[in-house]
Amino acid sequence: MSAHSLRGKTALITGSTSGIGLGIAQALADQGANIIMNGFGDAEEIESARADLEGRGVKVIYNAADMTKPDEIVVMIDDGVAKMGGIDILVNNAGIQFVSPVEEFPPEKWDAIIAINMSASFHTIRAALPQMRARGWGRIINVASAHGLVASPFKSAYVTAKHGIVGLTKTIALEVAEDNITVNAICPGYVKTPLVEGQIADTAKARGISEEEVVNTVMLKAQHTKKFVTIEQVAGITSFLCSDVAENITGSNIVCDGGWTAA
Ligand code: NAD
Repeated sequence: MSAHSLRGKTALITGSTSGIGLGIAQALADQGANIIMNGFGDAEEIESARADLEGRGVKVIYNAADMTKPDEIVVMIDDGVAKMGGIDILVNNAGIQFVSPVEEFPPEKWDAIIAINMSASFHTIRAALPQMRARGWGRIINVASAHGLVASPFKSAYVTAKHGIVGLTKTIALEVAEDNITVNAICPGYVKTPLVEGQIADTAKARGISEEEVVNTVMLKAQHTKKFVTIEQVAGITSFLCSDVAENITGSNIVCDGGWTAA
């Protein structure tokens, strides 16, 4: 893949103020793509991340749309198309987690996880597709999870949403197969990001074990390589899916989980 193979294209990455999404934004900017950032966080930190991306020689705008609000999602897509001339690459990445036995799972947490981790992708795809189709090229990448393929206890909403996103990926891939648009899911194992740091404490509480035990006996137990997946590895897979050699990969799950789901 040449260094600037995405020059002239625009990528919208939801939840790109932190973790995996920010890493994907950096990788795509390094390939020459203009970037639409989205996500929550401290205004100064977001501006500094935006300026860093722009320093890579591409145009970068930020949109604060809340992924629980379908109206804000539509405005974000329309505004992005108006300001950047189109959205060629859509990365559905925003996500949250909550860990609890199902009887104690707060219904409002269930609703938020289903909205952000699953339904938001329906709303972004439905709003972005017409202009992708009209321009005859597109890449849609859904950041799912190994939990899109297998379950773990205490993560009912997350596992449900991630299984749903894998189904949505396959369905839309078939609908746009002849339009030069590919739709794929990436299924990472554990990646050490702010989302996982928070989960270590919550899982320790839910299972009644120490945080060290959570890392060694829960998270890395599943990962046969005994290594966390890195943000750069997930970002690299995203760049690959945007490249020309990946044009026949569609409706797939690219699994990156240290052997977790092979067992
Ligand atoms: P993170 O907490 O570092 O980043 C999450 C991003 O989503 C942030 O930018 C946050 O502001 C944004 N976000 C949260 N709620 C939002 C809302 N309502 N509207 C808009 N943006 C919102 O987490 P991460 O680990 O980088 O996770 C990114 C994605 O990767 C998630 O979908 C997650 O499920 C998935 N994933 C993570 C791991 C892991 O181990 N970290 C593994 C597999 C899949």
